[in-house]
Amino acid sequence: MIHIALHFIIPLLIALVFYRGQWRSAVMIMIATMLVDADHLLADPIYDPHRCSIGFHPLHTWPAIVIYVGLFLVPLIMSRRQAGDNLKVAMRMSHLIGLGLLIHMILDGLDCLM
Ligand SMILES: [Zn+2]
Repeated sequence: MIHIALHFIIPLLIALVFYRGQWRSAVMIMIATMLVDADHLLADPIYDPHRCSIGFHPLHTWPAIVIYVGLFLVPLIMSRRQAGDNLKVAMRMSHLIGLGLLIHMILDGLDCLM
């Protein structure tokens, strides 16, 4: 239960600290990344409390995590360039989706250590 609570609490804390001006939308986007757990539906059993998600479920593998790092970092690198409003919105979404997914992978990864 603590694990699931952390999937809500950590994005909320990060949104409040780093995205104070728009924390509500930031936390909503990051919590929405919990949808990544849809890949559990491919596993049998769907939920196993003793299984390590990282490296097992397709969207929890290292190639996927590399993509999440890109989603998070590319907008940071691009933010120094001039961009239209639509591109700024898309980059903010990408950044927050990447961040939410990375938080998710770290929290799931912590479970693998216990
Ligand atoms: Zn997960």
